[in-house]
Amino acid sequence: MNLNKVRDGISLRKMMLAALLLTLGVATGCAVNPVTGQRELGFISEQRELTIGQQQYTPSQQSQGGQVTVDRELSAYVNRVGQRLAAVSDRRLPYEFVVLNNSVPNAWALPGGKIAVNRGLLIELNNEAELAAVLGHEIVHAAARHGAQAMERGMLLQGAMLVGAIAAQGSDYADYIVGGAQLGAQLMTQRYGRDAERESDAYGIRYMAAAGYDPSAAVSLQEVFVRLSEGRQSGLIDGLFASHPPSQERVNNNRALVAQMRAEGITGGELGTERYQQATAFLRETKPAYDAFDEAEKLIAEDRLEDAAQRVETALRMVPDEARFHGLQADIMVYQRRYQAAVSRYDDAIRRDPNYFDYYLGRGVAYARQGNNRRATEDLQASIKLLPTAMAMNELGTLSLASNDRAAAKQYFGFAADAQGPVGEQARAAFMRLDIADNPGQYIAVQPYVNQGGRLLARIENRSPLTVRDVTIEFQAVVVGQVQSRSVGLAQIASGQGGELDSGINFPAGVMPAANQVSVTVLGARVD
Ligand SMILES: [Zn+2]
Repeated sequence: MNLNKVRDGISLRKMMLAALLLTLGVATGCAVNPVTGQRELGFISEQRELTIGQQQYTPSQQSQGGQVTVDRELSAYVNRVGQRLAAVSDRRLPYEFVVLNNSVPNAWALPGGKIAVNRGLLIELNNEAELAAVLGHEIVHAAARHGAQAMERGMLLQGAMLVGAIAAQGSDYADYIVGGAQLGAQLMTQRYGRDAERESDAYGIRYMAAAGYDPSAAVSLQEVFVRLSEGRQSGLIDGLFASHPPSQERVNNNRALVAQMRAEGITGGELGTERYQQATAFLRETKPAYDAFDEAEKLIAEDRLEDAAQRVETALRMVPDEARFHGLQADIMVYQRRYQAAVSRYDDAIRRDPNYFDYYLGRGVAYARQGNNRRATEDLQASIKLLPTAMAMNELGTLSLASNDRAAAKQYFGFAADAQGPVGEQARAAFMRLDIADNPGQYIAVQPYVNQGGRLLARIENRSPLTVRDVTIEFQAVVVGQVQSRSVGLAQIASGQGGELDSGINFPAGVMPAANQVSVTVLGARVD
């Protein structure tokens, strides 16, 4: 669901984004790294790592396409391989492994051992040992605290910079993730640095061997990466290649590591080719359907909705039970303003997979456009439980306004204002409309002064990007011991405009009041 395609156009100058404050557990201490055995400074406790992993796992999966649901055996299989490696790792963590419904070759680990691998990577691998090399590498990222270290070094950005950085790395919903879930988006697209990558390769290979896999698969895996990255322009490098630049150097390094292990007498191990081919047979068989689905998404971005609809039809004929296909078909219907049809198609998607935010978001929008505010609110709230997006927050803000709940509307728009792009702009404008009425003094500057004739005046300026109306200003002055106050009204002031206000209050000739004897306050204003 891309709300740029269904929004009502409001364009506004970009405002400062509210900075997202990452609340980290702060207690500096020295500890031994569980993998490397080296002493290191760290202030993120293990409990904090576990909490981050726990909290960010769902939104991180959601923002990357959600889990593969048509082939449940596949996730169970990948988890089995992962647990086999986790059992020999240097650190006990509540490791979990899931397969994401995403064609980009990628894998990531969050602190606390929460790991994911994309369908698009699994299809490129040749055997279980190569999968073990991927998972072993990610296990080391979690076990050796690479994510926590990145946070401790302040490598993670905040607020607007953060959102921009994620967007640049191509996370599908990066522009739209708001609030705490931005942390996960950042952790999973994190570049840990060369040392951490080398560490993950080196220990990952040892975990593979200890779990009974042939470590030479770590070499063939790097060769797969080099092959995959060939012919990609650097600007298009995404997923694993953004965080793990493939190179002949890494192939050579891994080859040297394997040779060293052989010299240490670590030999043997299985490749598990047949088992892997069996476990991923459905993936390979259905690849053309997912290719058609990916093409449909590109066509939608180009506004070629009819062509996109045809591609989705093709995909659905091949895999009728793929919820994402039903969901995309429904999205297209929303863009075409066929809301009723869209709702029933979203129902089809949710019946097949009730755990993906986008179906609720899309259905919520479709209900809202049909005027069914109650169902719209329910669906949008369900969507933000899975992944807080600016789109859902914006819609909920609008629905709150429709039911005259200004306070709730402000909160929703405030959340959405975190996002980049048109949705964020729309939210910032909506927030400001409400906030100008609540706090007009924050947006309208007034400065009192007394002219040579002893008249109390004020300069006024509208510093908001909107035209404000019905501005009420109150002057107060102590004139020869007497408090006088006057209200002055202004019908409207355009953005950036200002002028002079006359209070009508006079000081006697030769009396210059002290600064604390005059005041001017903006009492009220509104925006259409
Ligand atoms: Zn890595």
